[in-house]
Amino acid sequence: VSRTRVVIIGGGVSGLTCAHELAASHDVLVLHDSELMETTSAIATAIWHVYLVDPNDLSVLRWSEATLHRLLVLADGDNSAGVTMVEGVELFRAGSSHEPTWASIPPMFRMLTAKDLERYPGTSWGYEIAAPLIDMDLYLPWLESACLNRGVQFERHHVTSLGEVFDGKDSVVVNCSGLAARELVGDTTLQPVRGQYLIVEKDESAPANYVGDDDHPGGMSFMIPRVNDVCIGGTEEYGVSTMEFVADEDDMLKRAGEFVPWLQKTKPRVIRRVVGLRPYRPEGVRIEAERTDDGIVVHNYGHGGSGVSLSWGCASDVVNLVEAALPS
Ligand SMILES: Cc1cc2nc3c(=O)[nH]c(=O)nc-3n(C[C@H](O)[C@H](O)[C@H](O)COP(=O)(O)OP(=O)(O)OC[C@H]3O[C@@H](n4cnc5c(N)ncnc54)[C@H](O)[C@@H]3O)c2cc1C
Repeated sequence: VSRTRVVIIGGGVSGLTCAHELAASHDVLVLHDSELMETTSAIATAIWHVYLVDPNDLSVLRWSEATLHRLLVLADGDNSAGVTMVEGVELFRAGSSHEPTWASIPPMFRMLTAKDLERYPGTSWGYEIAAPLIDMDLYLPWLESACLNRGVQFERHHVTSLGEVFDGKDSVVVNCSGLAARELVGDTTLQPVRGQYLIVEKDESAPANYVGDDDHPGGMSFMIPRVNDVCIGGTEEYGVSTMEFVADEDDMLKRAGEFVPWLQKTKPRVIRRVVGLRPYRPEGVRIEAERTDDGIVVHNYGHGGSGVSLSWGCASDVVNLVEAALPS
């Protein structure tokens, strides 16, 4: 099979993962209009989970499972990828107790019993889980260099229309522009869900396990210990797209500390205040090929709060769509 040029718009986790997979058999060029560490992907906390995507969508389950397997291999082997395993509890105060549709995917999952929940007053159900934790400060540079090793080329360039990218009938364009697909392809169903969180200093008494308190009355709360620091959050703000950190820090630390004795005893130093926009698409992640007047576009955007967790599975579907679109 002859190698074809494939242009990818977007150098976040979606674009890079697709570039890595497509470069096995094609010449890949990634166009990106921001630096790698300024993308939304760089801001992800990032735990493998199914959030702000439809847990009843069979494709979501397939993508998340495929990605989990890739991440487990990385957690087991290559330290430089920044993937480790973390255990934690996810607690809920609303809705009826139910086993999530994806419960069989992670290596360890257990619904909390009534006895377990006594430790978390105010919550009504929850689960214990082991999942990959992806440190994006390490993971994105690792992924970028894996792409470079496969010959992927990168060019800093702002694309104003898909038409400008096509250079001939045989090229295929992959659209991994994240939330910016709103402007690029006019998809007004995409909306930002802003997230704010703190990265704080870790000391030897910091816990090893994470705690998510998803519907705390003061707002979604979590404490995620990473290798070098701890993420404390957060917020879930629909339709808000400004990038200032405006959350009440003390309240955020107090909420996240409700079931974390470490945070009740210590006031850790804040290293960074983080703000990002999750590319939420109520109609679901858009992965499809579209035939335009200029050529074929394979879309891959709208991953909500799970873009990292779905990345390898989505890239695999993108590869299949690109192969199907190429002239045989
Ligand atoms: C606070 C927060 C916490 C999160 N936590 C998690 C988590 O724990 N687990 C998880 O799986 N996910 C998490 N996410 C979600 C995850 O970050 C996103 O789903 C994911 O990063 C989307 O990746 P992407 O590559 O599609 O988009 P982006 O990372 O936004 O990348 C888009 C790329 O397209 C480029 N681009 C856009 N428009 C153009 C254009 N016109 N021309 C050229 N280039 C263009 C940009 O420069 C960029 O390179 C979190 C998000 C936030 C905000």
